[in-house]
Amino acid sequence: MEPNMFCYQCQETAKGTGCILKGVCGKESHTAQAMDLLLFVVRGISVVADTLRKADSPVSEEVNIFAVSYTHLTLPTIYSV
Ligand code: SF4
Repeated sequence: MEPNMFCYQCQETAKGTGCILKGVCGKESHTAQAMDLLLFVVRGISVVADTLRKADSPVSEEVNIFAVSYTHLTLPTIYSV
């Protein structure tokens, strides 16, 4: 099987290097790929927001909420108690 994802978010990662076919936690490759895309978007929005703030331009509070909420959404659930 060809690797179709790469995730090394947590201590359970396969072989201590990264889950590449399916997560040890059960995460499917399509979920990992969607999370990668989501984080890419969050990073882009955050860079724009940071640039605007440095230029003393207003940034909506919703941007902060969006960034924190969707970053949190991608965290492994195995940390949950
Ligand atoms: S979160 Fe899941 S897929 Fe990612 S490294 Fe941990 S066990 Fe693997």
